[in-house]
Amino acid sequence: MEVFLNNLPKLAKDKHKENKTFFTKLKKKPPKQLDYIMQELHEQEFETTDCLTCANCCKTTGPLFTDKDVQRIAKYFRQKPQQFIDQYLRVDEENDYVLKSVPCTFLGPDNYCSIYDVRPKACAEFPHTDRKKFQQISNLTLKNVAICPAAYNIVEKMKSRIKL
Ligand code: SF4
Ligand code: SF4
Repeated sequence: MEVFLNNLPKLAKDKHKENKTFFTKLKKKPPKQLDYIMQELHEQEFETTDCLTCANCCKTTGPLFTDKDVQRIAKYFRQKPQQFIDQYLRVDEENDYVLKSVPCTFLGPDNYCSIYDVRPKACAEFPHTDRKKFQQISNLTLKNVAICPAAYNIVEKMKSRIKL
């Protein structure tokens, strides 16, 4: 996994043009069974990819925290939402709450998330490869393939399975 992670930014850069062309075509004419295909590719990938050997998303990019996330996690810490915000979060350029710093404060040295049961929705759904109408998050996916080995593999498999 470590070698793959080290090579991933370059691999993703090399594939960027090809991926962009693929997603442009996918957006124009998504196959009828796209949701089904994505579900299958996502499940197959995560049968073999163990996030505990990776945690690259938690180390290199943080999630957005919705108001619901803030309320739930603050409650878990027995804090007021504002106390939690002051301690861990900042507001980014798009006016969203994000982590003050990465790697994520809640990530342990063993790659376990210390707030796993109450983690932000964005963490639970990352890399969003089983999302319905997947073609709608093409731009996000183009970025995620440089961070997430599973997303990279899934996009590679999409390109061989879906002929556009
Ligand atoms: S979701 Fe992707 S980047 Fe995050 S730990 Fe799993 S494989 Fe790694
Ligand atoms: S909250 Fe947990 S899952 Fe989310 S980035 Fe931090 S360590 Fe990773």
